[in-house]
Amino acid sequence: MTASINRSLFESNFKGVVLKQDDEGYDEARTVWNAMIDRRPAVITRCVNTDDVVAALHFGRTNNLEIGVRCGGHSILGHPVVEGGLMIDLSLMNKVQVDPNSRRARVQGGALLRNLDWETQKYGLATTAGNVSHTGVGGLALAGGMGWLARQFGLSCDNVVSFELVTADGAVLRVSESEHPDLFWGLRGGGGNFGIVTEFEFRLHPISGQAFTVDLFFPLDAAEAALLRWRDLIKTAPRKATLTAWAGTATASDSFFLPPEVIGQRIASIGYVWVGDPDEGRKFLPSLRSDGSPIAEWAREMTYVELQRMYESTRQRHGVRRYWKGHYLRELSDEAIRAFLTGGMHGRVTGEGATMMPSVDIQSYGGAIADVADDETAFSHRDTLVECVIRASWTDDAEDMKRIDIARRYAKSLEPFASGGYVHTMADEGQAGTLRAYNRDKLARLTALKNQYDPENVFHLNQNIQPSSQNQA
Ligand SMILES: Cc1cc2nc3c(=O)[nH]c(=O)nc-3n(C[C@H](O)[C@H](O)[C@H](O)COP(=O)(O)OP(=O)(O)OC[C@H]3O[C@@H](n4cnc5c(N)ncnc54)[C@H](O)[C@@H]3O)c2cc1C
Repeated sequence: MTASINRSLFESNFKGVVLKQDDEGYDEARTVWNAMIDRRPAVITRCVNTDDVVAALHFGRTNNLEIGVRCGGHSILGHPVVEGGLMIDLSLMNKVQVDPNSRRARVQGGALLRNLDWETQKYGLATTAGNVSHTGVGGLALAGGMGWLARQFGLSCDNVVSFELVTADGAVLRVSESEHPDLFWGLRGGGGNFGIVTEFEFRLHPISGQAFTVDLFFPLDAAEAALLRWRDLIKTAPRKATLTAWAGTATASDSFFLPPEVIGQRIASIGYVWVGDPDEGRKFLPSLRSDGSPIAEWAREMTYVELQRMYESTRQRHGVRRYWKGHYLRELSDEAIRAFLTGGMHGRVTGEGATMMPSVDIQSYGGAIADVADDETAFSHRDTLVECVIRASWTDDAEDMKRIDIARRYAKSLEPFASGGYVHTMADEGQAGTLRAYNRDKLARLTALKNQYDPENVFHLNQNIQPSSQNQA
């Protein structure tokens, strides 16, 4: 197999890098964000242009290889890293070209959010991107793309003006509102199911480049009242200058802003992220402070680019084992707040029990996300109030099953309050997850698109929309 792999790609004038299992750089190329993923593709093709992508796809199909598509490598299940198959790696295709006059950015299909943010901010412009700069634009924007600007400008997918797409049969299409509008609908929320996007064209917006964030920390037994105040903030938050409300519960670890006596205990935080003039952003702080006394308060002013980098080398760094599960909640009842804080466990959790617990966060949606009509894009659940994500992270592989089990149970305790979820936090639910991500009508429309553009399900290493021929449901 190896010799024919080599020859075939060279014969097709492949300009990028082809890596096989013993090649230098192979291990680095197959390593993704979640350290749980340790799979070995037979071949990794590091493409440098659209022709390379077409050639790699042709090669994979003619050799009957299972195909994964990699951009930033941040899917929680490490979908692109395909054991024994072909990983089409787009990460060398990371250029971003900004036209400040038309306020558009052309972004190659392998770019990271940091490439997008850096280049657009040079002109005082931005578009909605996710919250951690080493995430890929490709995976993020195709399934939605929630970020600190979303309540003002919509999701990342709402800001895509056109795509260049390589379909399963190797055709290169320009997809926009007027060209292949059916695909334009499906690519805005349907994930990587319909082909390989080699270029995104994004609409950009002028922003001040300033930001303000604040977190107030509470012991768990005093957190419920704080969360109720925070819930009011969600309802009253303006979006003219973006405010995204954010709350979390976690086991406190060493940090300069927390008192030593709470380290190792479960605590909660309430706060928000504001993109715009920090003085304006501070005005919402008194409403969060109004009663109860936090054990710590951490407020920071920063640039927008610093905000985007805030977690990249700390809580969201590479090299850690991870498991996530998420829900959308249309309402945040008192009972839901209790479940969010405790995961359904009674009494105080301390010691090893606390160490093994996941961190859990909620962020507010609404604003411009909800202004887009539900049937305009494949992305679903625009009317959600908040997104809740249960995130387990650890380093010792002996803890894998226990950590995952505890995270699943935590997520289960929130299920009664949930209505659907975000594709990106579906973890290991398979088709049940796809059903949670899209309502039945949308799934039927997505299936019809899949039947037309990828009937053999070449692109199945994702939260998969199965073509009718494979759909057992
Ligand atoms: C640390 C971290 C922070 C995150 N923050 C946010 C956030 O703030 N907001 C948010 O909405 N999501 C967020 N996510 C979720 C994230 O958007 C998804 O995990 C997404 O899949 C990551 O995209 P990627 O390109 O890095 O992943 P990859 O693993 O490279 O790709 C995932 C899948 O996307 C598809 N894909 C990727 N690129 C292309 C392409 N060019 N053409 C066709 N298909 C493609 C493929 O199906 C692939 O299997 C975050 C994830 C992590 C790990």
